[in-house]
Amino acid sequence: MGGKFRIPHSAFRFFISLGFVLLLALPSFLSAQDASLFRQSRILMGTSVEVTVSQVDSKAAEEAIEAAFQEVERINRLMSHYRPDSEVSQITHHAGKKEVRVSPENLEVIERALYFSRLSDGAFDITIGPVFRLWNFREGKIPDRETLRDQLKRVDYRKIKADRSRSTVYLADPRMELDLGAIAKGYAVDRACGVLQKRGVENFLVNAGGDLKVGGEKEKGVPWTIGVQHPRLPSEIIGKLQPKNSGVATSGDYEKSFVKDGERYHHILVPSTGMPARECQSVTILAPSAMDADALATAVFVLGPKKGVALVEKMPAVHAIIVDRRGSVLLSPNWPAGVLLPP
Ligand code: ADP
Ligand code: MG
Repeated sequence: MGGKFRIPHSAFRFFISLGFVLLLALPSFLSAQDASLFRQSRILMGTSVEVTVSQVDSKAAEEAIEAAFQEVERINRLMSHYRPDSEVSQITHHAGKKEVRVSPENLEVIERALYFSRLSDGAFDITIGPVFRLWNFREGKIPDRETLRDQLKRVDYRKIKADRSRSTVYLADPRMELDLGAIAKGYAVDRACGVLQKRGVENFLVNAGGDLKVGGEKEKGVPWTIGVQHPRLPSEIIGKLQPKNSGVATSGDYEKSFVKDGERYHHILVPSTGMPARECQSVTILAPSAMDADALATAVFVLGPKKGVALVEKMPAVHAIIVDRRGSVLLSPNWPAGVLLPP
């Protein structure tokens, strides 16, 4: 891979010189012939969702996997802004007009998103939708400055009013929209894992396109292993994680992107400018929940390595692998022993 990867034994920032970077967490190396593993994948929430369970009998595994997929679909029906019948679309539809009663699930995710918005000083903002839509990554189209400037006025998380006691959400400006694209997949993964656990399945890996959570072990004494994708060399990894009962998520500039005049444009935007965040190639977050990992991967990506690591350091049990714009790998301090391994 043309570079070395070292694990920091002590704390502190640690740059590893790799060629370049981009990450995506892959649940790697599950051997298909391993009889104790049951795995299925489906396209849901615009990505490939994969549910793997182990150390259960085949009937229980099949039923649990089906129930986990049902849960992901249920969460998607509540939270997708692409579905006009979702609660999120209803909130947008009634922006500036009235509060919308929402499920506890939506209230929880929206409140958590607002928490990360405040924590990141607006780097994370679920009202980014109107600006995000100006970008066409498939056709490689950059929005014009005027339109961008105009649509930016519609972006401001502080105008989201979530009322816990009445279970309502209200957007204070009629031109605002909600987009949970940077947090809902992680939440759906957590919920799917909850469904598995309720059925007595303790050993599992649920992965929604790089937002994932693991429980227990792959086999007795063998942990789940997650490969962290190299941001510029898709078939290579920059490191491995062996987490226990944790969420892991990666945000990368290689996902939905195009290159024009030597400059890469991608789907993680700076809410204050509407332009793609420039300081990272990828960010992988380890956190207690996949929801937090998902949101923080996006937030840290926008903040960049310095502010991003400072944010992560404030949160116990949260750790980051950042590939900066030049391709150097930076690890946040105090990784728990044994979780982070070289490729
Ligand atoms: P992925 O969807 O590839 O997992 P992310 O979790 O980083 O990537 O989420 C990116 C999505 O979140 C975008 O497609 C867009 O819908 C939305 N988004 C983009 N920039 C931001 C931001 N600064 N804050 C919140 N959401 C964002
Ligand atoms: Mg995210």
